[in-house]
Amino acid sequence: MDFKQATAQEAEDWMETIGEKPYRARQVRSWVFTKGVSDFAQMTDLSKSFRETIAHKAIVTQIKEVKRDVSVDGTIKFLFGLDDGNTIESVYMPGADRVTLCISTQVGCKLNCKFCLTGKNGFMRNLSSAEIVDQLIQVKNRVPGGRVTNIVLMGMGEPLDNYDATVKALRIFTEPDLNLIGGRKITLSTAGVAPAIVRLADDFSKVKLAISLNAPTNEKRNQIMPINKKYPIETLMAALKKWPLPHGRRITFEYVMLGGFNDSDADAAELGKITRLVPSKINLIPYNPCPGLPFERPSTERVEKFRSALIKNHHTVTVRESRGGDILASCGQLRQAVKEAPSSTP
Ligand code: SAH
Repeated sequence: MDFKQATAQEAEDWMETIGEKPYRARQVRSWVFTKGVSDFAQMTDLSKSFRETIAHKAIVTQIKEVKRDVSVDGTIKFLFGLDDGNTIESVYMPGADRVTLCISTQVGCKLNCKFCLTGKNGFMRNLSSAEIVDQLIQVKNRVPGGRVTNIVLMGMGEPLDNYDATVKALRIFTEPDLNLIGGRKITLSTAGVAPAIVRLADDFSKVKLAISLNAPTNEKRNQIMPINKKYPIETLMAALKKWPLPHGRRITFEYVMLGGFNDSDADAAELGKITRLVPSKINLIPYNPCPGLPFERPSTERVEKFRSALIKNHHTVTVRESRGGDILASCGQLRQAVKEAPSSTP
């Protein structure tokens, strides 16, 4: 039994199986999730004998900070170590009215998107729901006011390729008694695992959905996102039509702009056509160049032209501001830097 991945109900049921009162679950969970304490010995308002009993029977997974990089813009990129020696990244992005945490769901990724450094480095394993949840708990423990208002599942990995652990983590994040974060403050970003989107619609449709579209035609998408061969754009759109959007809400299409590949006026026109199939907004992400990958960031003028072409056709378009550029804050970059220069790790 791992308290870091037990819902309130599961923790209460477990207390009963060891002959303890269910309210004990609430006490332990408050230490684990609110105070960020993982060592039972430090849960000082619980009796010593009770602490010893549960210490023999239960655990509280804790990820360990290995390294942090602080950007001039306030972004902090954390590299966390897991019990098996693997590492993952979480990126903290404070803003004027919201504080966003970008978390990982896998060590590496299987999808092998051609522009993504995480993909290039291959797949190691899925994260447990405890390891997903703990990224929030550990970061809250380390930042001013413990304040995180939004979560984006846009770090390493494909959340819908680690479906069960991801959904469990979403349930824990949003449990009312923990008061960690609201479902509508969480954005799940997926490369488009169509059947899992349909499943998620039943299991946890409270999250905001973001789709990494990145190319406007199957022909182009096949070249940069191998998953498109399995779930082409039509299959993806059919799944999105089943997503239960609350009134006035929209699905976000992320579109990484790769200079000379998907950033022409014709691409903008195609993109406009397909994103119209569901209520949507478009988030343009000028590419963050990665060492060893053959793509470039388009010029600011090109991004602007692309954006205005879409806006002229009444699309809602935002351009993602690049955060933490001085600390290589985009996917997989910190982990890569540590692998290449192990002597820089503390
Ligand atoms: N697997 C999920 C979540 C992780 S990737 C998904 O595909 O959505 C999160 C976002 O970062 C995706 O939109 C992806 O296309 C984008 N991305 C990956 N590498 C990037 C890079 N080097 N520059 C800009 N965006 C990148």
